[in-house]
Amino acid sequence: MRRHGPLSAPPLVWTAAEEDVDLETTDPARRRHSDPHRRRWVSPHYYCSSQTTSNTCASYNDKRKKVVYCRVLLTRVHSLRTQLTLAFSRAVTAVFSVFSIFAFLSVYADAMLAAVAFLLFCVSESVRSFPTTEQPKLIDLTYPLNNETIYWPGAQTFRHPEVFAGETENGYYYSAYNFLSAEHGGTHLDAPIHFAEGKETTDQISLQRMIGEGCVIDVSRKADADRDYQITVTDITDWEGRHGRTIDHCIVMFRTDWSKRWPDRKAYLGTDEMNVTLLHFPGIHPTTAKWIVDNRRLVKMVGLDTASLDYGPSTLFETHRTLLGQNIPGLENLMNLDKLPEVGANVIALPMKIEGGSGGPIRVIAIDGQTGYSRCDRLQSAALFASSPSLPLFCISLIASLCLFTRA
Ligand SMILES: [Zn+2]
Repeated sequence: MRRHGPLSAPPLVWTAAEEDVDLETTDPARRRHSDPHRRRWVSPHYYCSSQTTSNTCASYNDKRKKVVYCRVLLTRVHSLRTQLTLAFSRAVTAVFSVFSIFAFLSVYADAMLAAVAFLLFCVSESVRSFPTTEQPKLIDLTYPLNNETIYWPGAQTFRHPEVFAGETENGYYYSAYNFLSAEHGGTHLDAPIHFAEGKETTDQISLQRMIGEGCVIDVSRKADADRDYQITVTDITDWEGRHGRTIDHCIVMFRTDWSKRWPDRKAYLGTDEMNVTLLHFPGIHPTTAKWIVDNRRLVKMVGLDTASLDYGPSTLFETHRTLLGQNIPGLENLMNLDKLPEVGANVIALPMKIEGGSGGPIRVIAIDGQTGYSRCDRLQSAALFASSPSLPLFCISLIASLCLFTRA
């Protein structure tokens, strides 16, 4: 089942589990008959909710529709071209195989020609199979764990004492370490139980929730102007208006560009002292968290590139309590959000599976599925096809065939 998102997405992301299936949004027939005052449908893949996305949404509908259909068309052209190329290659192989047999049986010179042509064809095929940049781009959103890793003031920092490293008595190399760390430091997960009693622990969070489309909401300019900036509902609705869709089903990530300050504790946290009252960094406003849980469906995770979902001076951690209270886990201290597209990348966020954990170190990666459709890659593919010897080979084959028939 395909939902709104990049058309080139790896299938695993778009194979919805039962818990994610929502007939109202996935069945076009039902959608058309849904309440027109509540939703305005933009396309089979995109919709706006009038209740929440303001007037800007409608004005983007037409523009977005064109973009979506362009992408659909592009996908079809891309796949058609691949299929045609393959069919052509196979046809040429078949022609040469048949021709080689005939040529060998009749005239040796023609057989040689065919053999050379076939060899060239094999070379061209192997060239074609070289990996190209059409592979999706992989982006690591995770800081390494080391003695520079930033932890909450007072928390156990990362320690990595060596157990053994070197040549053993039996003549082979061996290396092993212990590690010690707070759950909440570096790039990490906040499991719902972190601020909500009885909610999911790290090991209980479903895999379905930890894989999804990444929605990147850039608030870096506002955060730069005010280091205690709290992300507002308008930041989300503006993003939704620009993209003609909602953040439903997404792993939502707010980009403050705070990662540029890492690993400078003072620049990143606002203080290098162990005093939490001196913390100053951007976060998500409690009203925004409340709005997300009340107005958006199946937001998989919410993360950002600062040390906490709540802003630095927070003492009540209301954003944490609201999101985690609805079993929406948090991602903190993300990096490289500036390298992600605002929509279309797929995110995989898998924490260390600590049974009963309140969070834990996590590896977060993004797959930028749109890379395969960039202009650069299309040009490269076209160039590869044009430079392949298939066409000249086909001509050689024709000439050789004509020679054979003339002799016959
Ligand atoms: Zn945390």
